[in-house]
Amino acid sequence: MKAVCVRETGGPEVLVLEDVPDPVPGEGQILVRIHAAGVNPVDVYIRSASQGRNPALPYVPGLDGAGVVEAVGPGVAGWSVGARVYLSGTAAAPLNGTYAERALCAPAHVHPLPARLSFSQGAAVNVAYATAYRSIVDRAGARPGETMLVHGGSGGVGIAAIQIGRAMGMRVFATAGTDRGRSLVTEQGTDEVFDHRAPGYLAAILAATGGRGVDVIIEMLANVNLDKDLGLLARNGRVVVVGSRGRVEIDARQTMGRDAAILGMTLMNAAPEDRVRIHAALDAGLANGTLTPIVGREFPLAEAAAAHLAVMEAGAYGKIVLIT
Ligand code: NAP
Repeated sequence: MKAVCVRETGGPEVLVLEDVPDPVPGEGQILVRIHAAGVNPVDVYIRSASQGRNPALPYVPGLDGAGVVEAVGPGVAGWSVGARVYLSGTAAAPLNGTYAERALCAPAHVHPLPARLSFSQGAAVNVAYATAYRSIVDRAGARPGETMLVHGGSGGVGIAAIQIGRAMGMRVFATAGTDRGRSLVTEQGTDEVFDHRAPGYLAAILAATGGRGVDVIIEMLANVNLDKDLGLLARNGRVVVVGSRGRVEIDARQTMGRDAAILGMTLMNAAPEDRVRIHAALDAGLANGTLTPIVGREFPLAEAAAAHLAVMEAGAYGKIVLIT
């Protein structure tokens, strides 16, 4: 089969499409024919050995995918050949990632893909929606009726956070850096939309709360925004740091009068039982139509390098996906 292999870390050019042996499912494994693979910023950090990542080599990138069950190994119950699925990772096996035509999965990685969603939309679920859900529900403890600012709402995690917040009955604010991104965010039913590149947008956010502040901020670029976020919080407000690409100086006094909290979040810290609970919630939303992934760009698998450049550019519009 064709797979994108990384044999040394470095720039996008280390993503090379190769012929590798077809995987064969062993005991307790499911073989999935992947039709689309999601591209995440973390794939770039791993490939370039940056942001504290240092992968074992060689490897096939990719945590997100969607396709069809092609074969099931001994001891697998509940899945049959032909089922449409989305993936939340792959089994620990050599050269086994989603940037490939096939991947081996444990049953815990395999979830039903409703007929109303395309394979590309299925490939846009895992990291983005699980991150948004864990940030909003598990870390922030957000409640219906609270106001949430999605600071960076136009990308994969941002769109997921808006949809989850709306489904929960929150009042949702979001920012985007382009007109196109703001249109997308508006179409998701966001209550108030702001431009995170416009002068004065922080004052506009505060004004939209009547000066009270927001209860929850889901922060995609904390190295730029964390200090500003603290000034936007209501009493008992919480900022969840989802993304950060450098250091930042904050005025810690801003947390005191508000009893505010800054909460870190890394999806990889979710325990297996948390993953089961998170995907049960996501699968319900995908099935009942409250969650609908947005795919902004599709690239052929052979152009994974171009997709890695695109995912780091400004002007996000939902997810970027590779078609396998
Ligand atoms: P993405 O699709 O590339 O989206 C990036 C988002 O950041 C866009 O909405 C972009 O808006 C926004 N942004 C750019 N400049 C901003 C600014 N000054 N203020 C606020 N937002 C700004 O990436 P993603 O997949 O959504 O991931 C977002 C971040 O979360 C990344 O840093 C990623 O590494 C991280 N992440 C962390 C976890 C975790 O476990 N902690 C999991 C997944 C992702 P415009 O393009 O419209 O300007």
